[in-house]
Amino acid sequence: MVDANSTESPLEAAAGTAGPHVIDAFKVLSDETRLAILLALWDGYEPFAGDDALSFSELLDRVDYDTSGNFSYHLQKLEDHFVESTPEGYRLKQAGHKIVRAVIAGRGLTDATLEPTEIDADCTICGEPLAIAYEDEHLYTICSGCGGKFGADSEKLPGTVMGFAFDPAGLARPTAEEIFAASVFRAMQKFTMQMGGLCPDCSGPVDSSMNICEEHSPNGICSNCGRRDQVQARWVCTVCKNSGHGPPGGNLVLHPRVVAFYADRGLDIGYDATDFETIVEVLEAMSNHDQEVVSAEPPRVRVTVRYRGDELRLLIDESMNVITVED
Ligand SMILES: [Zn+2]
Ligand SMILES: [Zn+2]
Ligand SMILES: [Zn+2]
Repeated sequence: MVDANSTESPLEAAAGTAGPHVIDAFKVLSDETRLAILLALWDGYEPFAGDDALSFSELLDRVDYDTSGNFSYHLQKLEDHFVESTPEGYRLKQAGHKIVRAVIAGRGLTDATLEPTEIDADCTICGEPLAIAYEDEHLYTICSGCGGKFGADSEKLPGTVMGFAFDPAGLARPTAEEIFAASVFRAMQKFTMQMGGLCPDCSGPVDSSMNICEEHSPNGICSNCGRRDQVQARWVCTVCKNSGHGPPGGNLVLHPRVVAFYADRGLDIGYDATDFETIVEVLEAMSNHDQEVVSAEPPRVRVTVRYRGDELRLLIDESMNVITVED
C-alpha cells in the first residue's frame, strides 16, 4: 500500500515482501557507470579460459571512465551483490552474470517477432500442417485446421497448440524446425525441473497444484475452463514467482519410468535440443498420453502412456508426485 505521508521511496514502497536486499540490489544497479562495469566484466569473460578476472586498470580502461577515485567507489558498490575481487582482479559473481545474461538473452531482439512459418510437422489433433510464431517472448505452435488447444479468450495466439516462454536468443537458429525443436526441448526440461520442486530460473522451491475442471466438456475446447485438457498441473516458485502449467501427461515425459518405457521400444527422448525428427516423434507419442481423473478430492490423476501397442500407467497426486507405476 502506498502511504502519501510516508518517507519511503517508490522503490521501498513497491518492494513489498521482496525484502531489503532486493532494494539494495536495485539501488546499486541504478547507475550507468556500474552497469558499464558489469558489461565490461562480462565482455572480458571467456568461459573455460582460466583467468577470468580483469585488473583495476584494465577495467578502468574498458569502461573509459576518467577519475579512478570515483571509479573505485562504484566498483565497491557492486561488490556486495554482483562483483568479487580476487588476487587477480575483479570478476562477476553468479548474480552479476545473471543480470547481464538476462539482458543479453534478448540482445538486439527485444522486439523480435516471427510471423507464422510452416514447419515440417502435422497437428496431432487434426493432421493439418503446423506453423510456429514468436510474440511477447513466447514461441507458439499454431494450427489453422482445428483451432488448437485453447479458447479464443486465452492470451495465446489464435490456434495455439503449444506456447512456451522462449528467450529471443532462442531464435538464433537457422531453421524454423530447429527453433521449434529447441522450444519444446526447453519446455520439457523446465517442466521436469518444476516437477522436481526446483525453480528453473532461481533454484528456489516450487509449489505445485492440480487444477481439475469439474464441468469439463470432452469435445473440443471446454467452455468452462477454456482448455482442451481437463487437468492442468501448475507450478509457482515461492521465491521469484516464476510459474508454469501444462497437462500432467505431457509433463511426465521425462520421468525415468516413462523414458525407460520409450527406450525399451526404440524411442530415445530428452537429450538433443535440435533433433527435430525425434522431437516430432516424441510429441506424437505424447499425444497418446491419456489422463483420467480418478478422484477430485484428494486429486488423483491416472496418466496412461501408450506406445507401439504397449501401456504404462502412472498414478499422480496433487503435487505431481508419482504414487504408483504399473505396466
Ligand atoms: Zn490441428
Ligand atoms: Zn473444462
Ligand atoms: Zn524462482
